[in-house]
Amino acid sequence: MIDWRATMGTALADAWALVAPVDCAGCGAPDRALCLDCAAALRSRLRGAALPLDSPPALPLVAALAYEGVTRSVVLALKNDGRTELARVLAPPLLAAVEAAWLGSGAEVLVPVPGSRAGAARRGFGPVALILRRAGLVAEPLLRTMAGGPEQKALRLEQRLAAAPRFAAIPRARGRRVLLVDDVITSGATLRAAARALRQAGAEVAGAAAIAATPRRRGASSIPWRFLGDGGEGPGDNEPVEDYREGKEA
Ligand SMILES: [Zn+2]
Repeated sequence: MIDWRATMGTALADAWALVAPVDCAGCGAPDRALCLDCAAALRSRLRGAALPLDSPPALPLVAALAYEGVTRSVVLALKNDGRTELARVLAPPLLAAVEAAWLGSGAEVLVPVPGSRAGAARRGFGPVALILRRAGLVAEPLLRTMAGGPEQKALRLEQRLAAAPRFAAIPRARGRRVLLVDDVITSGATLRAAARALRQAGAEVAGAAAIAATPRRRGASSIPWRFLGDGGEGPGDNEPVEDYREGKEA
């Protein structure tokens, strides 16, 4: 169930982060990987949307957080600065989103959306796969990034819409009903491309879950999200943050 070799690498990094001088990834306060105020900002508030695909049905989406402020800083610190110890604080919101998206979806397997090849080569780990492991979730890498896919973050929104990344699903995807898992949903172009590749390979795509979604901005073509429930109780709560403070494995 658990890839121990991969887990050991990040466990060592985590152990080092507990003794090394680190600053809060959210606000820069010293001596903590994440201060208590910033940990509180990562409390899930689930939101949902329906993403139209090339053909119906639309793809149900769930995200736990708004991609701004502390959430954005923590995700970027993990992805760009190699702060792998932060995977454990991003695991509870991802878990909450996956649970909500999984419920009633009929999905049988979680499939992480792979990043660009350049990103994978640069950081040496897949952020989504790492956070899934931290959340105790088992996923199957049924998608591959094809050569020539653009670096999404380097593109403007309009360019992203036009130039979606290219994925291919491996043959084992045929006949499976999958739930896609990504770190951040912005325009939905990446998820559309991922769903297209899976459908072409004979898989069904039941929905998608993500840690965070970029809030809808006036004038920009983006996804209309709505909050699910009140976000104060149930799967939106982040109890494992308590464990993180103690420096224990959640
Ligand atoms: Zn902080």
